[in-house]
Amino acid sequence: MELEKQNFIIHPIPVLKDNIIWIWVKGNQAVVVDPAISQPVISWLKEKNLQLTSVLQTHHHEDHIGGTEELLEVWPFSSVIAAKSDLDRIPFQTNSVFDNDVFILLEEEIKVIEVPGHTKNHVSYYLGGSKKDTMHPVLFSGDTLFGAGCGRLFEGTPSQMFKSLNRLKALPNDTKVYCAHEYTEDNLKWAKSIYPEDSNINSRLKEVISRRSKGLQSLPSTILEETKSNLFLIAKSAKEFAKLRLDKDNWKN
Ligand code: ZN
Ligand code: FE
Repeated sequence: MELEKQNFIIHPIPVLKDNIIWIWVKGNQAVVVDPAISQPVISWLKEKNLQLTSVLQTHHHEDHIGGTEELLEVWPFSSVIAAKSDLDRIPFQTNSVFDNDVFILLEEEIKVIEVPGHTKNHVSYYLGGSKKDTMHPVLFSGDTLFGAGCGRLFEGTPSQMFKSLNRLKALPNDTKVYCAHEYTEDNLKWAKSIYPEDSNINSRLKEVISRRSKGLQSLPSTILEETKSNLFLIAKSAKEFAKLRLDKDNWKN
């Protein structure tokens, strides 16, 4: 369990092939981000005697919303926060949000950042860390920004995704990035295939392999780390981004 600061914990539950469900805990309350499935979340929360207060949804894919309705059966008063523009695909949302909305969860201010590209209604959630309990800012990036990578373009254009990633890149350097999949090692191997000698890519890959071999997640990373070794953030134009995305789509480890 990673201790952000006393009383503020963000805990990973790895599920399915490579999904990570993040549970943010403060006191006896918990917020879960993109629950792909419910059972491991229910077990973990019950074992720790925690109350689920909210579910944050970044987008409508089944491996992000699949567990939500079952969580609501156990904690019927928990809120489900998602993009209003995806109401038809995330129908059980109780609090619909728009781009730049700010709301409070567990006494922290959360800002909605609309980041279309992976899906057309994808949002990320940013905790600015202005309140005394947060040591540094936190980003729940969903399937937009990954460790050394980004989501595939299922519904958006390269220029949309490039713009979305640039919004996330503009967040403070010390922002911790909690994304929804453990793809970092694979992404770095792909990056190395393009820049075999790059020292940032090589040292991060080494570190990630070591963490993974100990059964640890490669995440969270930081925005600073991503600006140095995530080729999609380093890309200078939508055109360059599009070329990289295509290369990654066709790359086999
Ligand atoms: Zn997805
Ligand atoms: Fe996903």
